[in-house]
This record gives sequence, structure tokens and C-alpha cells, in this order.
Amino acid sequence: MDFSAGLIPLDAALEQMLSRLTPVAESETLPLLEAFGRVTAASVASPLDVPGFDNSAMDGYGVRLADVASGKPLPVAGKAFAGQPFHGHWPAGTCVRIMTGAPVPPGCEAVVMQEETQESDAGIRFIAAVRPGQNIRRRGEDIRQGAAVIEGGRRLSAAELPMLASLGIAQLPVIRRLRVAVFSTGDELQQPGQPLAEGQIYDTNRLAVHLMLEQLGCDVINLGIVRDDPQALRDTFIHADSIADVVLSSGGVSVGEADYTKHILSELGEIGFWKLAIKPGKPFAFGRLKNSWFCGLPGNPVSAAATFYQLVQPLLAKLGGQRDYALPQRLRVRAAQKFKKTPGRLDFQRGILRTGADGQPEAISTGHQGSHIFSSFSQGNCFIVLERERGNVEPGEYVDVEPFNHLFGG
Ligand code: AMP
Ligand code: MG
Repeated sequence: MDFSAGLIPLDAALEQMLSRLTPVAESETLPLLEAFGRVTAASVASPLDVPGFDNSAMDGYGVRLADVASGKPLPVAGKAFAGQPFHGHWPAGTCVRIMTGAPVPPGCEAVVMQEETQESDAGIRFIAAVRPGQNIRRRGEDIRQGAAVIEGGRRLSAAELPMLASLGIAQLPVIRRLRVAVFSTGDELQQPGQPLAEGQIYDTNRLAVHLMLEQLGCDVINLGIVRDDPQALRDTFIHADSIADVVLSSGGVSVGEADYTKHILSELGEIGFWKLAIKPGKPFAFGRLKNSWFCGLPGNPVSAAATFYQLVQPLLAKLGGQRDYALPQRLRVRAAQKFKKTPGRLDFQRGILRTGADGQPEAISTGHQGSHIFSSFSQGNCFIVLERERGNVEPGEYVDVEPFNHLFGG
């Protein structure tokens, strides 16, 4: 895992990280509301046939084919409504009035929609050809009892949980939440709400990381700000490792400071200090502590958030048992302005995806791309992903954009 020579491409770094992880397997059984955002621990089988009984797809008349074939008008023997089945006597030569969703009575071979009938004194006349089985929804034609309706490893959202409710399922096993410890490092950092001494800045990263972790369904253990002091850092790493599945720190991994943290971390585990071929976010540390996985995010807030998004998000998805996680989708759209770019690293510039005057999608920049300008995330709605060896982009050229997901309000 020594990538010290040269810059590491993002996909190689991701591959390195993900290939080492074994997903957490412990699960708990939760009611549907509490299972929101959690990952299924096993596939879920339907306890029911859906539909649960043969029923009518139309408002109309239930018939026997032989009666319709006679060509005679058929008197109405009774009525079937949704929730009110017809249990009466149904003699040959009659039909049953039936509404959408009503169970079809035994012996019913087709439902004729109202628009294809005429009422007469002698009964109902059928004015169109009748196919066997028409307009009858068959028991189990949507879902068979015992069939898997959701696979294991799926993150549960409002798309899945109501379907489980429709099957009468009240609870299901989900993977336990990941425990993630987070702290910021730096003598210059101050908590919001406190006055700033000379040279101090407010801690941005811990809140950014904490909030993103919450949105990903993790249990967050927030360990505050840790000073650039070897003993304090060592104590914090040891404590964090003892209580968490993943330890996330920010700061202290850039060239100037890496030796410092490197020394401490190399005593506690096996950590690679990487220089990623991405911008923002070059310095990044990853490895194994005694009990947990460790990611050292860069100190610059934009770099910390971008590397969290691009690297830690997939790591947590895999570790948390999510098998349906897909790397963010990219679309190719027209650049509506010039983008400055130096060849050598894959750029994740913050931009705005919008509809151009001609109705086609296009991308503009949020402006200054400095890695301390966190407002670029709130002004933008996407990353503009510029290939590693690309230089400046001229207006009208095409670029890849990656719309922000829910972590950044997308
Ligand atoms: P470092 O990687 O520790 O050298 O930090 C790089 C830059 O990011 C420095 O300008 C730090 O002051 C800044 N920085 C580090 N941690 C934070 C943080 N938690 N919030 C805001 N800025 C930070
Ligand atoms: Mg620092």
C-alpha cells in the first residue's frame, strides 16, 4: 500500500480501500419507520400473493363465456364491490355487476368493461368480442408468496419501505449502524461561538463530516478539536479506535505535518499517506488501526468535504453492507464559460448545472475554486469533473458533471 512515488489516481485509491474491507454483518430487527435509511441484512420474501385474490381491473360485468356466446342479454344477478365480494347465487344466463378491485366471483371467466355493454330491459347486452380472462387481475401475478421482493444490501428509502408495508410486513432485519469517530486537529482551530485569538480560525470540517455521517445513517462519536500535540493526538487515536468502526480525522496529513501524525499513526496501525491525483484534496491518509479503519482527511475544508464525498462515502457504503451503492452518475454537458484547469490532477470543481437558453443542459462555475472557499458547495449544485490531463476548458466544449447527492442538499 505504499504509493509514495507519484500521485495516485482516484480509482486506484478507491480500489485499494474497498478491496480491503469486509462488510459489517451484525444486524438488528426494526419496525419500518426506524428502518428508514438502513441497509437490509437479508433478502425479504413476500408473505403474500399480490394481488391476494383474482379481481376486476375495470368497472363492468363479470360473465361466463358461454352466456356471452349465446348473444342473449344477461340479467344482473348481483353486485361485487371492492371490499364487498359477491357471495350470492349466480345462475347460468346472468351476469354480475363488478367494480374495479372487487374479487371476481367463482366461475367468472371474463370482465367486460362498462363501455362495451348496453343496458336493456331484458338485461345487459355485450357489444364487443370477449376474450377469456380479460380484465381479470390474477392472484399472485404481481408478486408470488415467498418471492424475494428486496435483496440483502439495499439501502431502504421511501421507494422500498411502502412496498414492504403493502405486503403487511411490519419489521425487518437491517445491518447495525456503523460507529464513526470524528475529530479535527489543529492548534489554530476554535469552536464557533468562541472569540478568535490572533491567527485562529473556526473549525469547519468537524461539522461538515458529522452532518454527512448522519445523513449516511452512521452513529457519530464527535471527539472535538485535538491540539497538535503528540500525546493528545495519540490518546485520541487510541480512544477513537477502541470505540469506533471508522476513525475520521481532518488536518495534519499534508506534507508539513504528515511526519508528525505519521509517526504516531505508524505506532498504532498500518497507514498509507497518499497524494491523490485529485484537486481539491491531494493529501489523504488511509489504513488500519487495531480495531478500526482510519481515514485522515485534508485540513482545507473544501478538500475535506470533497475527499469525504469521493472516498469515504463509498467506504462507508461497503463497510455498512450496502451492495446497491453506485459511484455518482456523471453527465456530459456543454461548458457555458471558460474553466481554468492545470493538467496533472482530476479536478472536482464546484459548478452549477442549469438549462441553457436553447433548452440544453449546461455548466457554469461557482467562481473562485480555492480549497478554503466552502461556500462553493452551497452556491453550486454539482461537481464539474475535469479529466486529469485536460487543460483549460473553452466555452462550448463538453465537460462531465456530477450532480450533488443528498449530502450537499441535492
Ligand atoms: P493541515 O492539513 O492541518 O495543514 O491544514 C490545512 C489548512 O486547512 C490550514 O490552513 C488549516 O488551518 C486548515 N484547516 C485544518 N483543519 C481545519 C478545520 N477543521 N476547519 C477549517 N480549516 C481547517
Ligand atoms: Mg493542521
